[in-house]
Amino acid sequence: MTAQKISIEFFPPKTEVGLEKLNASVDALLPLGPEYFSVTYGAGGSTRGQTQSVVTGMARRGLNVAPHLSFGTDSEEIIAELLQSYVDEGIKRLVALRGDLASGMGQVKPVYANELVEFIRARFGDWFHISVACYPEQHPQAIDLSTDIQYLAGKLDAGSDAAVTQYFYSLEGFLYFRDRCVAAGISKPIYPGIMPILNTENLIRFSDLCGADIPRWLRNAMNDLKSQEDLLRFGEDVVSDLCAGLLAEGVPGLHFYSMNQSQAVLNICERLNFSED
Ligand code: FAD
Repeated sequence: MTAQKISIEFFPPKTEVGLEKLNASVDALLPLGPEYFSVTYGAGGSTRGQTQSVVTGMARRGLNVAPHLSFGTDSEEIIAELLQSYVDEGIKRLVALRGDLASGMGQVKPVYANELVEFIRARFGDWFHISVACYPEQHPQAIDLSTDIQYLAGKLDAGSDAAVTQYFYSLEGFLYFRDRCVAAGISKPIYPGIMPILNTENLIRFSDLCGADIPRWLRNAMNDLKSQEDLLRFGEDVVSDLCAGLLAEGVPGLHFYSMNQSQAVLNICERLNFSED
């Protein structure tokens, strides 16, 4: 049995029932000994209050938690107040993003992730461990891969500690990206983001939006599976093989996109023979 560095991401639920489900998932996942749980931040700051409330609840349970954060359309004062509330709760981690604007928010000048990292370091020094996002298959708005990697190097140099990737299903694609990052002088750790396969339609729709590639063979295989049970079992095969390949290649840990559910992450970690020790 091997202890592995894992982190697990949630989104802030909209209802009480959703919150109960999230808390049940956290309880179920705790025995894996995750390094931290992270909680996403709605596009343009649309879940500022919910993210803050979920994160505060977790911190008060003594959990190591990392709120995601972006400027959106908010002022420096609002973001500084939010950050101060995290400091007051003893929260020491963040995931800093440019983020996307929610539809209907109009056009505002984007605050890129490197600018948010600079802002956090200028106001709060080294209090926070900061992770940023990166894209093995290139951010959908990037000019090209080299430019995207240069901006990644820039946001790491601005004072962030690590990067977490968008999810992907191609081990080769990730390894190529990692080699390119090293060649560009990036030496901070890059944690692969792992998306369990839970629902074919949702995964295809979301991947098309965020620019994550689902290889043709995988799309075809998912579409061909008739029962949800078969899909889950197949998904666990695919994702645990991917994780095993990544670990064999020496990644520093794995970041799971839980979709607020626990079973798939638990099953994948069991197949990988993970335990807290
Ligand atoms: P940036 O790093 O700022 O990059 C955005 C784009 O601009 C890229 O194309 C880049 O090449 C380019 N760029 C970067 N810096 C500059 C610059 N200085 N000048 C000009 N161009 C630049 N979204 C949410 O809404 N909420 C979340 O909680 C959330 N969590 C995420 C967690 C992870 C691990 C990942 C991988 C993504 C997450 N996202 C989240 C999605 C993310 O918000 C979007 O992908 C967004 O479009 C880009 O955010 P970023 O921080 O990567 O942007």
